[in-house]
Amino acid sequence: MLTKDQAVCIRTVDYSETSQIVTFFARASGKIGAIAKGSKRPKSSFDGPIEMLSHGRIVFAASNRNKLATLCEFESAAGTAGPALLRNNLFSLNCCLFAAELVNLLTDEHDPHPALFDSFLEFLHNAENAREKCEMLALLILFQLALLKDVGLGPILDHCVNCKATSDIQHTTDDIYFSSSANGLICKNCESAFQDKFKLTKNAAAALTNLKLLAEADENTLNKIEKLLAYHFTELTGRRPRMAKYVVRN
Ligand SMILES: [Zn+2]
Repeated sequence: MLTKDQAVCIRTVDYSETSQIVTFFARASGKIGAIAKGSKRPKSSFDGPIEMLSHGRIVFAASNRNKLATLCEFESAAGTAGPALLRNNLFSLNCCLFAAELVNLLTDEHDPHPALFDSFLEFLHNAENAREKCEMLALLILFQLALLKDVGLGPILDHCVNCKATSDIQHTTDDIYFSSSANGLICKNCESAFQDKFKLTKNAAAALTNLKLLAEADENTLNKIEKLLAYHFTELTGRRPRMAKYVVRN
């Protein structure tokens, strides 16, 4: 049976001289692994090799015997991210590749997340137009938080996960921490009870409790938050995402 869908390419692996194995994040079908036979031939039915972050219309045939679907058609939408970004802004491209890696790590095959798909596409589109590094980092942070929320792992950012106090988290002059295992912010009074914790700066904590502040935040603050999220994704998935080192400044 043939299935049509809208999809973004989130992973490609060369399979042979002429073919690729591609992973698509599709709007209605969820994550799909597929073989694109002959995609690297000069005259393929896919207009050449399928590129990371390209998006458009796919047609694929699911297979019962084989886990991989067979990609029958891929029609790339005009003006997509990827190649354009690569020419213009390497940092933005790396942020988009990081986002794609995280979508791949945190979603399961054939498990649709249409709202997340729409957020991802909007993120890629906004990334193409981001001019400043700060703007790109803020977009990435917001997408990462949307991703966590959509897969049911949204962190608690408006009160202390342990004592539930809101005032200490939102108005404190003390240090604020984030615990991956507790999945949220921890106030100064509770911090000693948690082994795994990431210490935030006051500005980073303020921007996390009030995400509107991200738009005005300086690069140090944004980098601190991104460093926290890279740590959190590492804890969640059991290994550090490959693209983190190209985005997070240590
Ligand atoms: Zn507390």
